[in-house]
Amino acid sequence: MAVLKVTKLGNPILREVSKPVDLNLLSDPDGDLQTFIDDMVDTMHEEGGVGLAAPQVGRSLRILVMECEDSERYPDRESIPLEVIINPEITYFDEEKISGWESCLSLIDFSGYVPRSKRVIVEGYDRNGNPIKIDTDDFSAIVLQHEIDHLNGIVFIDRMPDLTKLSYQEEFQTFWAEKETAPTQP
Ligand SMILES: [Zn+2]
Repeated sequence: MAVLKVTKLGNPILREVSKPVDLNLLSDPDGDLQTFIDDMVDTMHEEGGVGLAAPQVGRSLRILVMECEDSERYPDRESIPLEVIINPEITYFDEEKISGWESCLSLIDFSGYVPRSKRVIVEGYDRNGNPIKIDTDDFSAIVLQHEIDHLNGIVFIDRMPDLTKLSYQEEFQTFWAEKETAPTQP
């Protein structure tokens, strides 16, 4: 187990388009990708996030992990089983949008109000290189869109139509938390 250092906004890797993973390397006994994926999961748990993308721990690769089980931080959120997705692509966006408060381990001090598609279909591969297709909505759809944005060099503040709703966490708790849903922290 290893907890990796989380990259913060300003690190250029967060603005890069991450490179596709060569699926053959997932089963390479001399490779380090399986260990890296385990480390991503450990880091997400340690930092209390519900999702993490590889550039957030310093590697420009199209890998994301997500999970939300019995979260003390998000007791009201639906649970999301652990997912590891390699080379994810969003193949369907619902036109219906939902807006909610998001935060990010790479912008840990901030929350912002972000519109997202209510439902998405994501296709990619599991950690063994098998094709997977995820059709989901609401919270897990938001987390997926947030994490896949990271793989394209996009952070949640780029998606905010109204930057007057960008808040420090403390001010969010004081002024917004009662009025809106709690922030997600992919
Ligand atoms: Zn994030």
